[in-house]
Amino acid sequence: MTNTILTKERKDVKIRDVWEARKRIASIVNRTPLIQSTILSEKIGRPVYLKLENVHEVGAFKVRGAANKILSLSEEEKKRGVATFSTGNHGMAVAYVANKLGIDAVVCISNRVPKAKVDSLKRLGAQIEIVGDSQDAAGERCYELEREKGLTVIQPFDDPHVIAGQGTIGLELLEALPNLTDVIVPLSGGGLLSGIGLALKSNNRDIRVTGVSMEQSAVMYESLKVGKPVKMEESETLADSLLGGIGLDNQYTFQMVQQYMDDVVLIPEDEIAYSMAFMMDKHRIIMEGAAATGIAAVLGNKIPQQDGDIAVIISGHNVDLSILLKLIQNYTFENKG
Ligand SMILES: *Cc1c(COP(=O)(O)O)cnc(C)c1O
Repeated sequence: MTNTILTKERKDVKIRDVWEARKRIASIVNRTPLIQSTILSEKIGRPVYLKLENVHEVGAFKVRGAANKILSLSEEEKKRGVATFSTGNHGMAVAYVANKLGIDAVVCISNRVPKAKVDSLKRLGAQIEIVGDSQDAAGERCYELEREKGLTVIQPFDDPHVIAGQGTIGLELLEALPNLTDVIVPLSGGGLLSGIGLALKSNNRDIRVTGVSMEQSAVMYESLKVGKPVKMEESETLADSLLGGIGLDNQYTFQMVQQYMDDVVLIPEDEIAYSMAFMMDKHRIIMEGAAATGIAAVLGNKIPQQDGDIAVIISGHNVDLSILLKLIQNYTFENKG
C-alpha cells in the first residue's frame, strides 16, 4: 500500500495551463517576432522560419516560464520572495521578473562563478549569496532558505508553471504558421520542448517535434536511451545553456519529452560554431551555442524529410562576445574566396 501523504503531488500539465500562462504573463512578456530565413529555406528547399526568443530583454525564452511561475505564487509567497541557484539564463530570468514585480530574489552561487555573471545578476536587482565552491553547495543553500525563510525555489524546467510558460511559444507558432509541420527545439532539461510539444500536439498531432542537443553530455538523450534519468559528467561546450542534469527524481519533463519528441539530433561542436558565425554573417543575429544547435540541424539537413514549414526556436543570445568574435574570425578565414 502506498502512503499517499508521502507521495509528491503530481499534476499533469494541460493545454489549458498554457492558455492560462499566456494571459498571466502578457503584462511582462512580449510576443516575439517570427521571420522567414530565405537563405536557409533555399538551402533545404522548404520554408524555414526563425522564432526569435533572443529578443527578450534578458536574451532568452526562460523569462516566459519564470514569469508564469512567479506570477502564480500567492501574495504571501510573493512577500517572502524567491530563490534560485542558476547563474545562467534561468537565474537572469528569475531576477528580471522578480525585479519587475517588486519581489525579492536571492541567487545562491558558488565562489567560482565569474564576476561578469555576478555583476549582471546584481544589475537586475538580485541579492547574491556566495556559498562554498560548488554548484551543489549553492543548491543546498537555496533549499535551506526555502525551509528556514519560506522563500520559493524557482525550478529551471521541472515545474508545471514553468513548462506551461515555455509552451506559450507553441501557441504563437500555431497562430502564425498554419502550414507548420516541423519544429526544432534546443533540448536540455526539457521544459522548452515539453511546453512547445504540448501546445503544438494538442492542436495537431502530426506536427513533428525534433529536439537538438550538443554531442557531449546530452543528459536527456542518454536518459531516454536507458529509460530513466541518468547522471553524467559535464564537458566543455559552446552550448553551455544545454548543460546540467535533468534531476534523478524528475517529475514532469522526462515523461513529457518521451511523449512529445519525435526525433532527436546531436550536433558536434564545430557545427555549432559554424552556425553561430553563419547567423551573424547572413542574418546579423547573435545566437548563443544552445540556440545554434537548431540552425546546425537545418544546415546539416538533419530534419526528417517532409513538406511544409519548419520553425527553429532561436532560444537565446547570451554568449561571451570574445568567444563569438573568435568564431567569426575563423569563419571569415575559412569562407574567403
Ligand atoms: C535553458 C535553455 C535551453 C534548454 O531549455 P530546457 O527547458 O532546459 O530544455 C535552450 N536554449 C537556451 C538558450 C536556454 O537558456
